[in-house]
Amino acid sequence: QAMGYFTAVLDPDPASPAGRVSHYHIQTAYDDEQGLAQLMQRCDAITTEFENVPAPALLTLGAHRPVAPAAPCVAVAQDRVKEKALFVDVAQAHPDQAVFPAPYATITTPELLAAVPADLLPGILKTARLGYDGKGQVRVRNHAELAAAWDTLGRVPCVLEKMLPLVAECSVIVARGADGACVNFPLQRNLHRDGILAVTEVYEQNTPSPLDSKAIDAAKFIAAHLNYVGVLCVEFFVVDDGSAHGALVVNEMAPRPHNSGHYTQNACTVSQFELQVRAMAGLPLVQPRLHSPTVMLNILGDLWFAADGSQRSPAWDAVLALPGTHLHLYGKLDARHGRKMGHLNITAATPEGARATALQACALLGLPPF
Ligand code: ATP
Ligand code: MG
Repeated sequence: QAMGYFTAVLDPDPASPAGRVSHYHIQTAYDDEQGLAQLMQRCDAITTEFENVPAPALLTLGAHRPVAPAAPCVAVAQDRVKEKALFVDVAQAHPDQAVFPAPYATITTPELLAAVPADLLPGILKTARLGYDGKGQVRVRNHAELAAAWDTLGRVPCVLEKMLPLVAECSVIVARGADGACVNFPLQRNLHRDGILAVTEVYEQNTPSPLDSKAIDAAKFIAAHLNYVGVLCVEFFVVDDGSAHGALVVNEMAPRPHNSGHYTQNACTVSQFELQVRAMAGLPLVQPRLHSPTVMLNILGDLWFAADGSQRSPAWDAVLALPGTHLHLYGKLDARHGRKMGHLNITAATPEGARATALQACALLGLPPF
C-alpha cells in the first residue's frame, strides 16, 4: 500500500490484522477453491506471510500467477526433515564454507527411535511439522525420556537434535529476485525467552566478524540452491567449540519476512517488507544499508496483565517519550500470554545509546533487562 499497490488478503480469521487493513479481505480457509480463485482474480502477484499455508494451495495459485516464494520452497521450510536434508546438501556443495545443522536423527518409526545413537543425547525432540515459538519441542536427557517424549508428541514424525552449548543466536535475512540477484541485511543477534524471540540487536561488531560473512554467504547459498524468489530468513546458532569466535550451526529457515527483521522498518534504507514487494513485482533489489544501530523488543500479550492477573494497558506514553522509539502494534483483538502483539524498534546514533534506551523501555514496560 505504501508503494501504491492495492492489496488483498486471504485469511479465515475475521479479525486478522492484515485482513482489516487490506483493500480486500477474502475470508475463507487457505485451501478453499473459491477463495483461491478470488485471490487469483484480484492479484497480479502473490506471497505468503504465514508459514503454514498449505503448500498445495500455493501450487494452485502458482499455476496462474507469480507466487513468491514458490510452493516447493515453502514446503521445505514446513518440514524439519526436508529442511535439515537441504542444509546438509548445501553445506556439502560448499566444502570451504560449509555450515552444517546440529547433529540430528529423524524419528518416524519405533525402530528409528531405538536406533538413536547415545551421542545425540541430551537433545531436543522437535516435531517435523507445525512447530513455532518453541511449541512441539521436548528436551530429553536419555533414551527413556526420549521414548516418553515421542509418545507425548503423538508419535508424529520428529527430529531429535543434539543439545548444543549456545554462545549466541543470530539470523540473516536475504532477498533474492527472479533474475538471481541477491541482497542481504546485516547479521542480527537474537535473544529468545521460553523459545520465543524477545530481543534483536543489530549494529556493527555485535557479532564476531568472521562469522558474519560466513552466515551471510550460507544464507545466500541456501536461497540460490532453492532458486528462491523473495525474502528468506535463516537462523543460526553460535556454538562454543573452544575457538575464539565459536562455530556456526544452521538452525532453521523462514520463507518470509521474519520477526528478527522487523527492525529494518526503522533502521535501514529499505525494509524487509519493501524487498518482499520488490521481489514480487520484479522491481530492482538494492543492497540495504543499516543507518542506525538498533534494538527491537518484542511486545507479547503478557504486558497487558498486572502481577495480580488483572488487565492493564502498557505505559506507551512513557515509552514514546524516549527518543528513537518506534512502536508497531498489530491490532490483534485479545492479548494472551506469549502472543506476539507488536514490537518496539529503538534507533540511536550509537550502539550504547540504542541499548540504553532499550533498557529504559524494558524498565518502563516491566520487561527483564538483556
Ligand atoms: P521459531 O519460532 O523460531 O520457528 P521453533 O519453535 O521452530 O522456533 P527452534 O528455532 O528450532 O524452534 O528452537 C527454539 C529455540 O530453542 C532456539 O531459538 C534455541 O534457543 C533453542 N534450541 C533449539 N535447538 C537447539 C539445540 N539443538 N541446542 C540448543 N538449543 C536449541
Ligand atoms: Mg527458531
